[in-house]
Amino acid sequence: MQSVITTSHEVHFDAVAKEALNQSIKANTYSKIFVLVDQNTNTYCLPLFHKMFDGEVDAIITIAPGEPNKHIETCLKVWEALSDLGGDRKSLLINLGGGVVTDLGGFVACTFKRGIDFINIPTTLLAMVDASVGGKNGVDLGPLKNQIGVIQQPKMVLVLPSFLKTLPEREIISGFAEMLKHGLIVDREYWNTLRSNGVSKDVQSILKSVNIKSDIVTEDPRENGVRKKLNFGHTLGHAVESFFLESNNRDTLLHGEAIAIGMILEAYLAHKLTGLSKLDLDEIKETFLRFYPKVDISTKEISKIKSLLIHDKKNSHGNINFVLLNEIGNAVVDIKVPDELIDEAFTYYKLP
Ligand code: ADP
Ligand code: ZN
Repeated sequence: MQSVITTSHEVHFDAVAKEALNQSIKANTYSKIFVLVDQNTNTYCLPLFHKMFDGEVDAIITIAPGEPNKHIETCLKVWEALSDLGGDRKSLLINLGGGVVTDLGGFVACTFKRGIDFINIPTTLLAMVDASVGGKNGVDLGPLKNQIGVIQQPKMVLVLPSFLKTLPEREIISGFAEMLKHGLIVDREYWNTLRSNGVSKDVQSILKSVNIKSDIVTEDPRENGVRKKLNFGHTLGHAVESFFLESNNRDTLLHGEAIAIGMILEAYLAHKLTGLSKLDLDEIKETFLRFYPKVDISTKEISKIKSLLIHDKKNSHGNINFVLLNEIGNAVVDIKVPDELIDEAFTYYKLP
């Protein structure tokens, strides 16, 4: 049973999490305690939360689930609910849900009355290994991911893998993509373990991923340098995700599924530009395709995906900067990529 201390907040696991939550509630004199959930975490996670929480909840605020609801309109409803329910500056917001609830709830908390305390309890594997550390809060702008937001740390983050029992398998596999990413960017041994053991949601692997992310974020909280490594696979992955989000005739991809494609594409760029060996490149492609079946993307769709790249938040001065690998376990940041290589990368992805 562990806790990981990050820059300015604590991530507590399992039994320690329950204790930390109850102690902190006792120690603080919050005027009101609100819990934000979506319709699914209301059904599946709230009962478990009530079991572990000794305090009294003043109100549950429920939003519609899924990425299409991670928008400012949803924030407006939550701000209004907080206001109608008598929320003030001494209120606490507990965000109980996946990345949508924790990102959006964090943003709402940071902006309501110029900022109230919030605690995140991630209930998806993705949110446990990713959103739990780093203090990024925010919402999408149209189909463009995380364009509006703030960096602000929650009071604490509680990671309880028992919430994952009700999470659909597809969502578990999606979260696993971020764990594979952690191996690829800094820890080849971890990558090897994950790829040979397969999808894993045990507390030790979650802890390993949280530690990797926490070390990186502690070194560079404002994303001026090493933190950019965490964006591996995300420059193209976000564009792919946005494309599928806004496209009416294609089913939406989950975040992990989109960045799995992004990581294969960017591994190809790395092979061409930063010395990633062909062996490593093929190992990366083979591994991801084992967990994330190939998605058909037409030439026309590729050009639409490329047009979405320009909005990526990692752009500066009109240049698209990529995080690439020079080997598995080692990433390099701020690499500019010629346009035609991106087409080649898609060709490599499509190759049998
Ligand atoms: P993420 O961004 O972390 O993938 P989302 O907030 O989009 O997460 O959640 C993914 C989906 O899983 C949503 O439909 C959400 O309501 C649902 N969900 C989240 N946690 C659980 C859980 N523990 N059990 C069942 N469903 C869940
Ligand atoms: Zn991600």
